[in-house]
Amino acid sequence: MSTDIRVGSGIDVHAFGPGDSLVLGGVRIAHTRGVVAHSDGDVLLHALVDALLGAAGLGDIGEHFPDSDPQWKGADSRRFVAAVLRMLERRSLRVVNADLTLLAQQPRLAPWRERIRHSIATLLGVELQCINLKATTTEHLGFLGRNEGLMAMATVLLSRASPTAPLSPDAKS
Ligand code: MG
Repeated sequence: MSTDIRVGSGIDVHAFGPGDSLVLGGVRIAHTRGVVAHSDGDVLLHALVDALLGAAGLGDIGEHFPDSDPQWKGADSRRFVAAVLRMLERRSLRVVNADLTLLAQQPRLAPWRERIRHSIATLLGVELQCINLKATTTEHLGFLGRNEGLMAMATVLLSRASPTAPLSPDAKS
């Protein structure tokens, strides 16, 4: 019996804007600015959703949750993750691990890291050790270095519980 594993990657960027808090990995943290976004602007979860969709071969976040759709205005991005997990479940796909990186000059992630890891692990229904969260600045270079916004990258690995289950509705085998 072969093991069916699939890797996916995701990237998201949001500009800072008016506000006094950010949502990162489903955790609202106090900050001197907010983000410009149609939803809650959670860059970590948006990158994660794209990584999950990518691994499953299901396109990207914009196709499934278009920002032209009023139902996603101000949406809690945990809803996107939950909806994508249901798509994965229907295809017998489960998350093996996720590795995420926040790229930002500010805020510092360290004080929030464990809460965010816990939030993401809970959302995905995996053990805490399956979620890794890293952070880096860009040494003051570029738009991130100028503190104009923040960016996240995510990589996930999925495995298929049953090698005989179809990966997508149009899969032939
Ligand atoms: Mg986004």
